[in-house]
Amino acid sequence: MGLVVPPVCAGCGVTGQHVCETCARLLHHQPRPHRPSPMPPGLPPVLALTDYSGPVRQIITAWKERGQRSVAPVLAAALTDALVWTWSADAVAAGGDVPWRPVGSRPELYVVPVPGSRAARRRRGEDAWGRVVEMACREVRSRGIPTTLMRCLTLQRQPRDQAGLSARERRANLSGAMAARMPSTGWRSPSTSLVVLVDDIVTTGATLAEAGRALRQAGCEPRGAIVLSATRRSGADRR
Ligand SMILES: [Zn+2]
Repeated sequence: MGLVVPPVCAGCGVTGQHVCETCARLLHHQPRPHRPSPMPPGLPPVLALTDYSGPVRQIITAWKERGQRSVAPVLAAALTDALVWTWSADAVAAGGDVPWRPVGSRPELYVVPVPGSRAARRRRGEDAWGRVVEMACREVRSRGIPTTLMRCLTLQRQPRDQAGLSARERRANLSGAMAARMPSTGWRSPSTSLVVLVDDIVTTGATLAEAGRALRQAGCEPRGAIVLSATRRSGADRR
C-alpha cells in the first residue's frame, strides 16, 4: 500500500541503488590483456575489464542467473567505455597494453556478441547479453564512433553446460558449435574495420576461441575480444 521497497545493490547489498557507485566503479577499469593458461588455439587477443570476483561476481550473477535486468545498464556502461577506449586514439597512445590497434584513422567498429546458450536464455527468458551489447553500441554510436552491432554468430548445436568442465573438455565441447552468417556489407575491409567480439565472462577462453574460429571460417578476422570479467581459475581446473 504505497510502500516502495528501496533497491539494494546487487554487488554489496547496500540500500539505495540497483548497483551502488562504489560497485559500479569496479567495472570501470581500463581493460587489461587477459591470457588464459593454457591458451586455446585461435583465441583472439582478449581484454578484460576486471576479475570475476567480489561484488562484480555478485552483480554478474544477479544479472545472469537471477535475471535481474536492473543491473544491465551498469554492465552496458562499462562495456561502452571499454569499446570507446579500445577504438580511440588513447588506446593507441597507451602503448603495449593494447593487443590490437585501430586501423586507419577512424575505423568502423563492428561489435559481435557471443551468443548465449539455450539454457541461459531459458533461465533469463531473453537474450540478456545481446540486450546489454545493444545498449552499449547505441551509446558508443552516440559518441560519434561509427558502430555496427553484428549479431552474426549462432549456436548450430547445443554444447553441454560448461560449468565443471576442464579447459580441454570445454574446447572439445565447443568445437564446431558456432557458425557465423556475415552481412553482405561492412566489416570486409580489414584496413578500415575493427571487428571485436564481446562477452560477459572469460574462463578458459574456449568460447571466444570458438567464436573466433566461426568468424574466420566466414572470412572475417576478429581483431580482439572485450570481456567484462575474467575468472582466475585454480591450478586444478586448468588441465
Ligand atoms: Zn555496491
